[in-house]
Amino acid sequence: MKNLEREIALSRIKRLYGLAAQRASMGTERDRKLSRRYSHIMLEIGRHYKVSLPRGIKNHICTGCGAILVHGSNCSVRISSGNVIYKCGECGKTKRLYRAPT
Ligand SMILES: [Zn+2]
Repeated sequence: MKNLEREIALSRIKRLYGLAAQRASMGTERDRKLSRRYSHIMLEIGRHYKVSLPRGIKNHICTGCGAILVHGSNCSVRISSGNVIYKCGECGKTKRLYRAPT
């Protein structure tokens, strides 16, 4: 039963992420608000059903304001000494993703 609940929760998280990313790329204030709302609901579902967000989704959520980071729309991406740095266009918070040395 728990597994089924988590499976459904994960599918809803993925669906909400798709919608939120779509809204975040649209650019109007209403769309950005809706995107943050979807992202908030997504995090709530994850917390309630104890589902950890997939890495691909987790890396694209701003820890400052909860916005979905879409390249070229509301965030800038830089590479500095081998690390990928995302800067949120909404609140300015930076997120640093470490890359394994090659
Ligand atoms: Zn932010």
